[in-house]
Amino acid sequence: MKVGFPNNPRKEIRDEIKWIANNGFNFIDLFLEPDKGELGKFNTGEIKKQLDYYSLDWVGHTAWYLPIGSPVKKLRNCAVEIIKQYLDAFVDMGSDKVTIHSNWPTSLFTEDEGVKFQTESIQSILNFASKSGVKIMLEPLGTVHDHVNNIDRLLELNEGLYFHADIGHLNIYGRDPVDYLRRYKDKLIHVHLHDNNGIDDLHLPIGSGNIDWNYLINVLKSFYDGTITLEVFTDDREYVLYSKKKLLEKWNGNNHNV
Ligand SMILES: [Zn+2]
Repeated sequence: MKVGFPNNPRKEIRDEIKWIANNGFNFIDLFLEPDKGELGKFNTGEIKKQLDYYSLDWVGHTAWYLPIGSPVKKLRNCAVEIIKQYLDAFVDMGSDKVTIHSNWPTSLFTEDEGVKFQTESIQSILNFASKSGVKIMLEPLGTVHDHVNNIDRLLELNEGLYFHADIGHLNIYGRDPVDYLRRYKDKLIHVHLHDNNGIDDLHLPIGSGNIDWNYLINVLKSFYDGTITLEVFTDDREYVLYSKKKLLEKWNGNNHNV
């Protein structure tokens, strides 16, 4: 298992890489999005050089708010084109997997239409990605629409699409993230960990919400040994490091409570 942390896209990528490497993470979840991570604002060659210098691995992540499910065809096509440009940058740096996010239209449109809009976009992205061999993984956002029936359909209709489990997102609307882990374990290639109260997507440190981490980690590690990003958003990064310590204790079974 590898533990990673994302760069805050509002901060300079080189400073973020340095912090992540110096604090013992195995990889960076590279958030390429505005403003500091926007295409044109950085040099992929320089980032690659810095990652190599620190022997830091990485996975790719596109902006969560790109409207690939918009009812406005021109808008979703535009979102797809933007994702393709970022894919080129990720491929340039040698990424082997990149995250995209579910995106649902407003309630004027049915969930069936939402699945259709997204599938049209995802097909185009998968087709583009197949040329470079990069894996595309879908991270459900945790909206009311991100229930198993809809995620089932998106994964079934889009062959070759992988699953990215964001545990915090899968903990709201009365859902149990463990159900999603078990259901999609064959397509699971990346995990985001953070906590919440079951109502809001708070990105809290591990142990400060209502998720049963001992149970979840025991289930997860029974079939998964890949990349896990601590997606804990706080200005005080001591909480991130504490979350890393807790995760490793639980994963390695050094915690008496496990
Ligand atoms: Zn996430």
